[in-house]
Amino acid sequence: MISRRIPYMFLCLFLILAAPAAYAQFGLEEGDDVTLSTDANATQAQPQLVFAAPDSVPVGEPFLVRITSTKPLNEVDIYWQGKEVMPKINVWNDKHVALAMLGTDVLNAKPGKQELVVTASIDSVRKTYKKNVTIAAKKFPRQDLTLPKKMVTPPQEVYDRIARERKVIAEARNTISPERMWKLPFKRPVDGDVTSAYGLQRFLNKQPKNPHRGMDFRAPKGAVIHAVADGKVLLVGNHYYAGNSVYIDHGNGVVSMYFHLSKVSVKEGETVSRGQLVGLSGSTGRATGPHLHLSIGVLGKLVDPAPLFEKNVDQMLQ
Ligand SMILES: [Zn+2]
Repeated sequence: MISRRIPYMFLCLFLILAAPAAYAQFGLEEGDDVTLSTDANATQAQPQLVFAAPDSVPVGEPFLVRITSTKPLNEVDIYWQGKEVMPKINVWNDKHVALAMLGTDVLNAKPGKQELVVTASIDSVRKTYKKNVTIAAKKFPRQDLTLPKKMVTPPQEVYDRIARERKVIAEARNTISPERMWKLPFKRPVDGDVTSAYGLQRFLNKQPKNPHRGMDFRAPKGAVIHAVADGKVLLVGNHYYAGNSVYIDHGNGVVSMYFHLSKVSVKEGETVSRGQLVGLSGSTGRATGPHLHLSIGVLGKLVDPAPLFEKNVDQMLQ
């Protein structure tokens, strides 16, 4: 009996010891939640670094990248589609955790493989990890809208205004600040139903326009609008298209935007908490009636906000 067990135990021991080396050879090109031994001299099966990122994400959908280390983690840099974010590192349960939100924009995302690169100092040793994330094609429904012609084509005299606002908006949307203030799930900004989902292919008076890069919520004039997460007010504006609008920085490249408000209740530079009053809904700017348009920017890309209201971090990483 004993003699039959011993070779089996050796086999198990061999598999445990061999496993980290096998993973290290494959690197992070293959598979998800890869457990890597980062120390060449390590002989124990104890994982030291876990890098979690999806293999595949539909166009426009936000996703998370998480690096968990049992050794001190410093200066984590995440590179994605020409942008760089240095996520805040939290120490939790003796583990060092860096979490970042990434995504693509329905406006210009190209289906196919995209390289995700992470560099990190683990116990003062600089390491680089790479993984291919597949951007999966997604079909978005078509939405036809008929609007008065002057609403679709702005008059010449507002062109300068629109150009000026575009710069200010792009700057706010591309803000990448060092403190991560966001947590998941986000709070819904208003009680109403979703009337227009993210990604709709819009045709205004039969002319193709940009896809819908946010979510519209039913909201009568004066409905209370809440901040989706903790953050700091980046920009309050009265813009040609968005009307009275509020931009909140949630840190590490995540920005929420609230458009067409009848009243703004916050000031630039003000710190806000999740659920705090931001303003009241309305129909200012280019809107056919009162509603809330919400956009979520991630490293400047406008992503689908919907999953962020439904999932916590672990669910997003599954
Ligand atoms: Zn909208």
